[in-house]
Amino acid sequence: MTRSGDDYLRGLRDGRSVFVNGERVADVTSHPAFAGGIGTVARLYDLAHDPANRELMTYPSPRDGRPVNKAWLVPRTRDNLVARRQAIKFWADASYGLLGRSPDHVASFFAGFAGAPAHFARGGQRFADNLLRFAAQAADEDLYVSYVIVHPTVDRAQPAHRQSEPFVYAGAAAERDGGFVLRGAQMLGTGAVMSDYIFVSVILPLKPGDEDYAISCVVPTGAPGVKLYPRRPYALGATSLFDYPLSSRFDESDALVVFDDVLVPWEDVFVYKNIELAAGQFSTTPAHVLGNTQSHIRSWAKLQFIAGLVKRCMDLSGRSASAEVVSQLGELATKVSIVEGMILGAEAAAEPDRFGVMRPKDALLYASQVYQQAMYPVLVNQIRGLLGGALIQLPASVDELRVAESAADMERYVRWPNASGVERVKLLKLLWDAMGSEFASRHLQYEMFYAGEPAAIHGREYRNFDWRAAEALVDKCLASYGLDSR
Ligand SMILES: Cc1cc2nc3c(=O)[nH]c(=O)nc-3n(C[C@H](O)[C@H](O)[C@H](O)COP(=O)(O)OP(=O)(O)OC[C@H]3O[C@@H](n4cnc5c(N)ncnc54)[C@H](O)[C@@H]3O)c2cc1C
Repeated sequence: MTRSGDDYLRGLRDGRSVFVNGERVADVTSHPAFAGGIGTVARLYDLAHDPANRELMTYPSPRDGRPVNKAWLVPRTRDNLVARRQAIKFWADASYGLLGRSPDHVASFFAGFAGAPAHFARGGQRFADNLLRFAAQAADEDLYVSYVIVHPTVDRAQPAHRQSEPFVYAGAAAERDGGFVLRGAQMLGTGAVMSDYIFVSVILPLKPGDEDYAISCVVPTGAPGVKLYPRRPYALGATSLFDYPLSSRFDESDALVVFDDVLVPWEDVFVYKNIELAAGQFSTTPAHVLGNTQSHIRSWAKLQFIAGLVKRCMDLSGRSASAEVVSQLGELATKVSIVEGMILGAEAAAEPDRFGVMRPKDALLYASQVYQQAMYPVLVNQIRGLLGGALIQLPASVDELRVAESAADMERYVRWPNASGVERVKLLKLLWDAMGSEFASRHLQYEMFYAGEPAAIHGREYRNFDWRAAEALVDKCLASYGLDSR
């Protein structure tokens, strides 16, 4: 059943190995690098656990009838998809779409896996049983699962088994009583430091000979041998909440995850040394579509938030009446509406797939992914262009607004026709943290790469687009005239 934020926090105090600035972190929930982001996730858990939100956020567990988060719901009907969307959007709105891998992200992948156990059973019934058991446990215990499904960028010109040494990339290095030994590294564990479990697999194409790397399993984040190396935590540079309202509270962290001979019990293994089944998890089952539908709903919330921020800036600066600004705001709104329309369109055009899962229309989903990946950097540029030097001409810190002399100067020189100095500084510092700070810059990289490098995303759209229908029109047209036609 759903957990409270406090229950979630307790689960993270498991002695996990997280290394930051030359130190091993004793407790991620209280460390300044992570406490802000983890606190935000805890609040999401509280929201879903709140009886007032029960109908919106949960459905009765098929095991015991207790409420579980709808992200785990395997959609069998269009209504199920709508219910999932509404729950996902509620959490995304609560975090302004700034948490790319909130707990409902990988949960949505598992909903897709759990809807297609036959795929895993092709490797042996026990793998399907393992998958269903873990998905049920994770739903009932409301677990936060993050994932690492990309090889670290060491030598991408060579397949996994031809790296300079074996098991640079995570793979099954040996078998021991009760399980296999997971050795190597995987990237890029967004949310890993604040998750309960890590799903380990590979979405990149594998080559014959890479069988040892064709795995799919879960590992408790605190398991012996799991080591997390997060990138620079932005909360550490956030001097105050006022100056960095987002970096301080919404840094979900991204980590290189090293598996130093981690024993993975067979019960936690879903695919073992099978290249076709490892790839098919993402291309055949509905998991990738459901997981990325969550991503798009999250992105929709973020784009709404950004559009609202820019509109507020234009209103307060007295510029929103100008034709040029109206045109730019209209263009911004169009981008948000296109993303919304693609989500609703994919949902409306959903059809039951071969597993009996109501699958949002793949081609619309992936088209939206291609669009968003290319659109986001343009959007950031457009907004920075709209704001110019105002985004930089800001006091170093909130203290300038507290000290009488500097506060008076801020009030006089850093105001807008419709905003006091404090209002303007507050708003622009928020916008800078969304568009320009190191946190914002990571968000730019995230939106450009979270779903894969561009060619991979284009390939998904290529494979899922209805070329038959498109080419049928060409055939029809070609057939409508000939050499002697007039
Ligand atoms: C902020 C962030 C968070 C992420 N979170 C997660 C996560 O939670 N879990 C997870 O598993 N992964 C995560 N990822 C990883 C993400 O899935 C990968 O970054 C993505 O798959 C792209 O792979 P790559 O970074 O290796 O890029 P690359 O494949 O190295 O691509 C980088 C660039 O090189 C180009 N390129 C690649 N190969 C060639 C070639 N042969 N010839 C010419 N050009 C080439 C690409 O087109 C691209 O422009 C995250 C990434 C980021 C940036």
